[in-house]
Amino acid sequence: MHAIVSGAGVAGLALAGRLALDGWTVDVIERARAPRASGYLIDFFGPGFEAAERLGLLPALRARAESYGELRSVDAEGRVRGRLPISLVEQAVAGRYLTILRPRIVEALQASLPEGVRIRWGAQVETAHDDGARVQVLLSDGERLEGDVLVGADGVGSRVRQLLWGPHGQFVRPLADLLAVAWTGDDPELAADLGGRVAMQVELDRQLLVAPLEGSGVTGFAVLRGIPPARARAAIAGMGALGRRAVRGIREPYVDHVAQTVVEPWVRGRVVLLGDACAAVSLVAGQGASLAIAGAEKLAEELAWARHPHDVTVGLAAFERDWRPTVEREQARGRRAAAAFAPHTRLELEANRALWRAAAIPGVAHLVARAAGGVTKAS
Ligand SMILES: Cc1cc2nc3c(=O)[nH]c(=O)nc-3n(C[C@H](O)[C@H](O)[C@H](O)COP(=O)(O)OP(=O)(O)OC[C@H]3O[C@@H](n4cnc5c(N)ncnc54)[C@H](O)[C@@H]3O)c2cc1C
Repeated sequence: MHAIVSGAGVAGLALAGRLALDGWTVDVIERARAPRASGYLIDFFGPGFEAAERLGLLPALRARAESYGELRSVDAEGRVRGRLPISLVEQAVAGRYLTILRPRIVEALQASLPEGVRIRWGAQVETAHDDGARVQVLLSDGERLEGDVLVGADGVGSRVRQLLWGPHGQFVRPLADLLAVAWTGDDPELAADLGGRVAMQVELDRQLLVAPLEGSGVTGFAVLRGIPPARARAAIAGMGALGRRAVRGIREPYVDHVAQTVVEPWVRGRVVLLGDACAAVSLVAGQGASLAIAGAEKLAEELAWARHPHDVTVGLAAFERDWRPTVEREQARGRRAAAAFAPHTRLELEANRALWRAAAIPGVAHLVARAAGGVTKAS
């Protein structure tokens, strides 16, 4: 059996690896010419953590994870207003949690790919035709492929979805007028001052997180409400001491509106969407990568037993039937998280500050840690 997967991201590589273990050959088509080095910090826990363990990926992920001692809440003057030991956040999820850069997840998935997977860099699907028994695909480099299934694991702006479902705008739902900005850079001075701790600042309609990376790197993540992309940098700098220092390191940032993808159905004949292409929960939910891996495992399980073209369409239908309820539940949680992220009123801001002050009280910190859910998307 042969799968054609558009997108060598988290979902695409997890699926390719698992299908190849079941004897499938897999062509992965990736638009980028090479793996991207830059990225953003991911809280990795939940269903994807469990799936990664079953897939034998945890050692490779752990080896590439970042390690922090403390999450600090700071104010506009740079004064520390609250502290939360990361060990408490980890305890809240029984140690089943990692903080890791997205490119390191992709690297770990790629490093563990078995024989039978071929990645075609710098190409994309130009046309796809499903004749009922096979899918014929023409690539942008002129090559033609034929497979039993075509998987669109090509992210929020999915090419496969655009070709076979329709224009982007129909499926992408911006949330709460939030803009996300994420970047990695080199800033030895800021990295040294952070000293293994994550700094977070929450203000009205904006939130900033800055963390050191191994060596002298620094990563930043800001969520801004009601700010157009062109004003993002100034808005972050305007947050005060941490913001002014953080923007020095911004190079080629990720800048996009916080959004979900809602697609119905996920399956058309022998073409299926996977991960953010159909099920983005929004980055403030801190579950997208986790769900991408868990969804990939689920899809691979449904396809594993396919020996005949008809089995594939049965497997795809079972995947959507069984996996959609989990995604819809997490999307509902994601909408609530977006509404609550970056406090919108003085009252919400004061409540957030009170929570951080409470974290200093012995016995209360573990409750705050549980409420935080993760480190990089805590608020
Ligand atoms: C700033 C930020 C912070 C986040 N934080 C978290 C977090 O804390 N926890 C968490 O679990 N998730 C988080 N997420 C979400 C997570 O990154 C995504 O949900 C996850 O990466 C989705 O995986 P995917 O494989 O579906 O898509 P992606 O990882 O986006 O991969 C898609 C792949 O398809 C490729 N591609 C795109 N277009 C084409 C094309 N035309 N042809 C071929 N290939 C193409 C891309 O280059 C990419 O390699 C965050 C996201 C952002 C942006």
